[in-house]
Amino acid sequence: MLNIIIFGKPGSGKGTQASIIKDKYNLQHISTGDVFRKNMSSKTDLGLLAKGYMDKGELVPDQVTIDMLSHEIDNFLPCKGFIFDGFPRTTYQAKALDNLLSLESQKIDLIIALDVDNTTLTERLLQRGKSSGRSDDQSVEKINIRLQEYDNKTKPLVTFYMQQNKFFSVDGIGSLQDITSRIIHVIDKYTND
Ligand code: AMP
Repeated sequence: MLNIIIFGKPGSGKGTQASIIKDKYNLQHISTGDVFRKNMSSKTDLGLLAKGYMDKGELVPDQVTIDMLSHEIDNFLPCKGFIFDGFPRTTYQAKALDNLLSLESQKIDLIIALDVDNTTLTERLLQRGKSSGRSDDQSVEKINIRLQEYDNKTKPLVTFYMQQNKFFSVDGIGSLQDITSRIIHVIDKYTND
């Protein structure tokens, strides 16, 4: 299996790139944000719980997110690998992911981060908010909370994965195709070594 995490701040393009990369390498794409939004629109208990946090721009509690992810992984197995998008977002989640994969004798191979500055991210998210209908894309205040959540809870993962020599960062600004090529370059170098 090939297991990749596509990493980055909100609005860095993780979802867009993950859906291109999953086709090229035949991976299963799991976006925790998408799974939460599906649950919100069908008004499940999980969706209602997650909505309270998502609307404010805060992270959903770890154990709720991990249980949901574990269920998603089980649904897709067996498969050629995963591309995780929006997960993990805390060190606790990263350790839980390692445990879940080890049950299948699997591991995370690569973390690929999309590097984009905060000014560009804010512009992108406000633009996306015009059509996405997402409450968390609608105001600079909410976007700032999401960026703070990243700095406080998610950024430590950079060191966590760097220490394992699994962390790669690519420039997340440019044309869609250019960014995809940068990601493919990292994956191909890893799989051919
Ligand atoms: P995203 O679609 O990845 O931007 O996620 C949207 C929102 O869903 C986040 O701001 C969080 O409220 C929630 N969310 C998504 N993934 C996670 C996660 N791994 N841990 C906690 N909350 C999450």
